[in-house]
Amino acid sequence: MRSVIYCDFDGTITESDNIIAIMKEFAPPNWEDIKDQILSQEISIREGVGKLFSELPSSQKNEITKFAIENARIREGFAEFVEFAKSENIPLYIVSGGIDFFVYPILEKFGPFEGIYCNHSDFSGDHIKILWPHTCDSLCENECGCCKPTIIRKLNADEDTFTIVIGDSVTDLEAAKQATFVLARDLLEKKCIEWGLNHKGFNTFYDCINAIKNQIEVRGHHVKGKMAGVSGYKG
Ligand code: MG
Ligand code: ZN
Repeated sequence: MRSVIYCDFDGTITESDNIIAIMKEFAPPNWEDIKDQILSQEISIREGVGKLFSELPSSQKNEITKFAIENARIREGFAEFVEFAKSENIPLYIVSGGIDFFVYPILEKFGPFEGIYCNHSDFSGDHIKILWPHTCDSLCENECGCCKPTIIRKLNADEDTFTIVIGDSVTDLEAAKQATFVLARDLLEKKCIEWGLNHKGFNTFYDCINAIKNQIEVRGHHVKGKMAGVSGYKG
């Protein structure tokens, strides 16, 4: 069975959430209420994130972009994690509810990746407009914005896949339900416990490397065990 990694960006690859950091810094009206409504799932991520950015003028594009890139801190061990996935031949996809104008430049020096999926932005009007190139398929009614379960379904293509999801928050909840194994922090970790999902908590990407190594080892034993049980199998 092949393995695939789907890794979140904000609050996972970066230590904190870049959208929240931008909102704190540029403070559009009511941003905290909107943020709370998103986190409590009162409004959809798509509606909430769209609303948050629609309050910011496009004329601030350069300041906002510069701030987001300079403010972002990469979680320890990420570069090594990318190398690890490469050396194990495990495709690593970045699936992010973040926005292109900060996701791409921050990731640039760590790539190339198997793929980067995030929301896009349009600064041509008076206010920032978020575009949604990866909306939910017919099986997701969550209005995710960037729909992680849809992306996973598409990329796994009905193949039997050991699906590893790494994340921290509200954009990862639906993706975690599609996973074989979840590496989780924060809200996502709490939900994994609540829902009884196969998961492990992490602080750094070194933890992720170790956890995935363990999973590979355990599966190796299982496969051998199964094979040994098949009559006539000459391994
Ligand atoms: Mg996140
Ligand atoms: Zn969705």
